[in-house]
Amino acid sequence: MSKDDCSILVEKLINRIRSFGSKKLSFSGRLVLVSSVLTALYNYWVNIFVIRKGVLNKVNSICRNYLWGGGTEFIRSPRVSWEKICSPKSEGGLGLRDSSVWNIAAMGKLLWWIYYNPDRVWVKWVNQVYLKGHFWDDYQPGIDISWGWKSVCKVKDKLASGYSNGQWLLDTKGYTIQSGYELLRLKFQTVTWHKQIWNPWCIPKRQFIAWLVAREALLLKERLLTLGVANDADCLLCGRGIENHIHLFQTCEYARKIFDELGKLLGVSLPATDLLQLIEHEQHSQLKKGVLLCAVLAAYYHIWLQRNQTRVDGCVLRPTLVISQIMKVLKMRVGSSLKPDLASQDVIWLSSVKLYL
Ligand SMILES: [Zn+2]
Repeated sequence: MSKDDCSILVEKLINRIRSFGSKKLSFSGRLVLVSSVLTALYNYWVNIFVIRKGVLNKVNSICRNYLWGGGTEFIRSPRVSWEKICSPKSEGGLGLRDSSVWNIAAMGKLLWWIYYNPDRVWVKWVNQVYLKGHFWDDYQPGIDISWGWKSVCKVKDKLASGYSNGQWLLDTKGYTIQSGYELLRLKFQTVTWHKQIWNPWCIPKRQFIAWLVAREALLLKERLLTLGVANDADCLLCGRGIENHIHLFQTCEYARKIFDELGKLLGVSLPATDLLQLIEHEQHSQLKKGVLLCAVLAAYYHIWLQRNQTRVDGCVLRPTLVISQIMKVLKMRVGSSLKPDLASQDVIWLSSVKLYL
């Protein structure tokens, strides 16, 4: 694509995102919109054109800015890097795809055609104009060759580890863009908390805060102090600890009151530990685990809200009021999600904790 064609692509993208027009949308709402924009991009432009890296970087930065700030311009630093966001949820990301990497993977189709589709018109043209009888594996483009063809040749080097004697190793059916993307993308360690956070019982807005908690990516006072934008690191909710993720969501006196009381109401113990792991490893039914995770994520969400509210006006809701809000949402969630063929043990538990009326 020419530079002008590329600028049209960026312009379209900016207009599309502007058309969403709402900075009031939550992060999870913006995530859905960014995902749809990027998906549309893969399905058309990125799949069929070789697009300049600078343009795709621009596309990524527009999506990133919208995701974190609600607009196309840079407002604040992202709490999590774009590479991590573009990793699968099992690796702690949000499952978006990086358009630059996807474009390279899509170009990998052209390499596959050169190996296995010699009758395609494009491959015949490549053989006639560029390869001229050279063996493709050994071919190197000259310096006066077009930018587009050089880009295709660079992709050959990037995907080289996926091939052995002309065979694509990552998919028995042959090269696919998805398998090429898997080879090219940055890999991160598998995380232990993704199934708990992305549990279907939990509400997206709360899942996002829980994701930031699990990633330890919230901007808390301990971090602000090291950046020189806070005078101290004292916890805003209890004033008796350093405000970091472990303190605020596990050991803080305010958080403890919420978890202790919530545990009593739900008939379980919610001690000062990693509750996502604790619930996962308990011998609960899937339904009970889902409801408990929903409760813990709701608690994280409200603790974060109250922490921010305290920062603004120094006022904080009493833990009992926070708990009644959490239980209200739990009742609604349970009421709208229960299936008629409930196991008797679930009916007994839900009835005992007054979530099943
Ligand atoms: Zn505290």
